[in-house]
Amino acid sequence: MLEITDIPVEGYEKVRRAVDPNCGFHAIIAVHSTVLGPALGGMRLWKYDSEDAALFDVKRLARGMTYKASCAGLDLGGGKSVLLGDPKDKSEAWFECMGEFVESFGGSYITAEDVNTKPEDMAIVHTKTDHVVGLAGRSGNPSPKTAWGCYLGLKAAAEEKFGTADLNGLTVAIEGAGSVGTVYGELIAKEGGKIIAADIYEDSAKRLADLTGGTVVGPDEIHGVDCDVYAPCALGGSINDQTIPQLKARVVCGAANNQLLEQRHGMELRERGILYAPDYVVNAGGLINVYNELVPGGYDEDRAMAQMDKIRENLLQIFALAREEGICTSVAADRFGDQRVAAAMASK
Ligand code: NAD
Repeated sequence: MLEITDIPVEGYEKVRRAVDPNCGFHAIIAVHSTVLGPALGGMRLWKYDSEDAALFDVKRLARGMTYKASCAGLDLGGGKSVLLGDPKDKSEAWFECMGEFVESFGGSYITAEDVNTKPEDMAIVHTKTDHVVGLAGRSGNPSPKTAWGCYLGLKAAAEEKFGTADLNGLTVAIEGAGSVGTVYGELIAKEGGKIIAADIYEDSAKRLADLTGGTVVGPDEIHGVDCDVYAPCALGGSINDQTIPQLKARVVCGAANNQLLEQRHGMELRERGILYAPDYVVNAGGLINVYNELVPGGYDEDRAMAQMDKIRENLLQIFALAREEGICTSVAADRFGDQRVAAAMASK
C-alpha cells in the first residue's frame, strides 16, 4: 500500500514523498511550476545518502526543468521525480508504485526516463498511469536529439566568443563519453573539430576518441587540458572551486544538468573571460523531442528538429542580454526563462 505525504517547500507548487514498506519503495516527486503547462521531467533512480540529499537533487532538477521548458518556448512546466535506491535492486514493483505515485498528481506531472531508468521501466509505469512519455515506439531515445541541440548551442557560443559559428579547428574537451557526449563529439568532429575525451570508464573515452580521431585523457585531467571548449557531459557540479582555476577553455558548452555547483560559479567564469552556455538552454533537445509526443497530431521528427533551432537563437539572445546588463549568462538565462512564466502568470 502506497503511503503518500506532502512535503511543504517554499517556491514549489507540490512536493510529495511516497513509500511502500512492502517492496522497499521510496520516492519523491517535485512539481516546481505548472504556470506554462503540465510539469514534465524525468524519473531518476539513484542511491542517495539520505532523503535530504534526494530532496535537494529533485528540487534543483525540477526548477531547472521549468526554465528549460520556458526558454525552449514549450507549453510545459517543471517537475522531476527521484526514486531512492540502488539501481541493481530495481524491481517491477518499484515502477508500479511509481506509476501510482505519478497518477496521484492527476496529470500535473508527466514523467519520462532519466539516469538509471529505461524505456522498459517506463512501460511498467505506463500500466498505472498515462502521464508518461518517451515510451518505446514513440519519440524514441532522446540522447541523439540532446546532442544535436548541444551542437547547435556550441555553434552559437562559438559565434559569440570566436566570431564564427564554424567549429573547424576548435578543440573540444568532452567530459563523459556517454549517450550524449559521444554523439555530440561525432557532430563536432564531422565539422573539423578536434576531440579530447575523458570518462571514468576508459573504454568509453577510447571509443569516442576512435570514432572522432581524437585523444583520451583521464577524468581528473580533462578540466585542465589545452582546448577551446570544455564540454561537461557527465554529472552536475563539475564547474566548481577546484575545476575553475584549471580551465584553459574559453567556452563551456555541454549536456550535463546543473553544471555550476553554485550560482556564484557562473560569475567566476565570466570574470575569467570564459563564456558559459547555460546548461538548461543547451541541453533542451531531448525535452523538445519528447514534448512533440504531446502536441495534437502526435510525434513528428521534422517538426521537433525544426524547433531545436530555437536553442541557437535563444543562446544568442541570452549572450546579448548578459553583455548589455553586465551579468553572467546563467543569470541572464534565468531572466530569459522568467519572462515567459511572468507573462503567463500576468495573463491568468
Ligand atoms: P550517460 O550515463 O549515457 O553518460 C554519462 C557518462 O559520463 C558515462 O559514460 C559515465 O561513465 C561518465 N561519467 C560519470 N562521471 C564521470 C566523471 N566524473 N568524469 C568523466 N566521466 C564521467 O548519460 P547521458 O544520457 O549521456 O547524459 C549526460 C548528461 O547530460 C547527464 O548529466 C544528463 O542528466 C544530461 N542530459 C541528458 C539528456 C539526454 O537526452 N540523455 C538530456 C538532458 C540532459
